[in-house]
Amino acid sequence: MAKRDYYDILGVPKNASDEDIKKAYRKLAMKHHPDRNQGDEAKKAEEKFKEAKEAYEMLSDAHKRAAYDQFGHAGVDPNMGMGRGGPGPEGFGGFAEAFGDIFGDLFGGGRGRGPGGQQVYRGGDLSYAMEIALEEAAFGKDTQIRVPTWENCDTCKGSGAKPGTSAKTCGTCNGSGTVHLRQGFFSIQQTCPHCRGSGKVIPEPCPSCHGAGKLKKQKTLEVKIPAGINEGMRIRSAGNGEPGTNGGPPGDLYIEIRVKQHEIFERDGDDLHCTVPVGLTTAALGGGIDVPVLGGSRAEIELPEGTQHGKTFRLRGKGIKGLRSSYPGDLYCHVTVETPVKLTEHQKKLMRELDESFRKAGERHSPNAKSWTDRVKDLFK
Ligand SMILES: [Zn+2]
Ligand SMILES: [Zn+2]
Repeated sequence: MAKRDYYDILGVPKNASDEDIKKAYRKLAMKHHPDRNQGDEAKKAEEKFKEAKEAYEMLSDAHKRAAYDQFGHAGVDPNMGMGRGGPGPEGFGGFAEAFGDIFGDLFGGGRGRGPGGQQVYRGGDLSYAMEIALEEAAFGKDTQIRVPTWENCDTCKGSGAKPGTSAKTCGTCNGSGTVHLRQGFFSIQQTCPHCRGSGKVIPEPCPSCHGAGKLKKQKTLEVKIPAGINEGMRIRSAGNGEPGTNGGPPGDLYIEIRVKQHEIFERDGDDLHCTVPVGLTTAALGGGIDVPVLGGSRAEIELPEGTQHGKTFRLRGKGIKGLRSSYPGDLYCHVTVETPVKLTEHQKKLMRELDESFRKAGERHSPNAKSWTDRVKDLFK
């Protein structure tokens, strides 16, 4: 069977960034996680996982990726230099390790043992999508957001048990919070599905929190959007994610920035682009035109005589100063010359006179006409 292209396996383009490759792999690893695929599906998932893992290992290594880009599968041998036997069960020993990487990273690696001998987990990360205007991205903004927070339940004082009752040791995991599962070649230590890792079960749950011991509330968080931030960037708010389990640390909150489309400007890195409509006569005779600058001020461009449609003018330093830039970018104004509409009879008469005068002078008033006519002639020779 022909080997599939590594980029196809991960579903990323050839120019994907390291971050995109990592993201794509994480998604696949999650999808083909053995917990999520039972019976016949488990075998297929295992194959898929192996395939994704190999693709990731190749593409996440700059040297291997370069070799693969140049020579394809012939340039890289997944069984070389990885310190594992050949393919087959031994070669698949990297499974747990890979999961350690990926899931350790995802879930914060906060696993450990709590004082009671129970498994401690770091809380999950939360993400919050925030849409801001281009001006806010350029100049920064102090704002507030409402995010979920968890408080200990007053009714049960956080125990999760109905007042007057108490939690019991989980019989499935004997209080350890984990169980060992055998699936195919590998044995995986998994959070106990019965007590969800707490090591305890609550025979009579608290009526207020349904046994969680915590209640979800909302809190207001002050957020500082730094000047120069761009679409897709994330701001990390440490400790504002979900609470940990069994005393584990909380996760983080990530605020993902989305920048609204602007009426006038389009951003490209630190540069801005805008389109400036210019009347036919101004384009022909030249003159100053006013252009807007992000943030409300204006600047003037001096159009030379005979400015053509599509001409670009650059205003240095009128772009955006990026988060990590020392200087602001530039503003590019793209001129669009407008053909006059709704002419009066008098204006039409003037245009005809003008046209007549142009015709008499041949092509000297049309800078592109001559070369265009020549190229058309060549086409039909
Ligand atoms: Zn409660
Ligand atoms: Zn259990």
